[in-house]
Amino acid sequence: MAQKTTKKGKIVIDRERCKGCYLCIEVCPFHVIEVDTDLNRKGYRPALFKGVSEDGKGCTACTQCALVCPEVAIEVYRAK
Ligand code: SF4
Ligand code: SF4
Repeated sequence: MAQKTTKKGKIVIDRERCKGCYLCIEVCPFHVIEVDTDLNRKGYRPALFKGVSEDGKGCTACTQCALVCPEVAIEVYRAK
């Protein structure tokens, strides 16, 4: 029987590099990035990886957030 597999991934955001433009939050199809409540050293509220969205979806390592980030602050990892 064929099994449905779901791609899984995670991202690491360099919060000190982030300038709070939130393009990554807008582009993420699964809504797994939010705004941090704490400021970084430059005084921006950086993007924060939530891991799982409110409706239970997770990162698929689609890389869209990393591609859109003007500060190159996001690294994407694919789970094996
Ligand atoms: S796109 Fe990059 S600079 Fe903009 S909020 Fe996301 S991590 Fe920060
Ligand atoms: S890699 Fe894709 S699914 Fe994962 S956080 Fe970035 S935009 Fe969202």
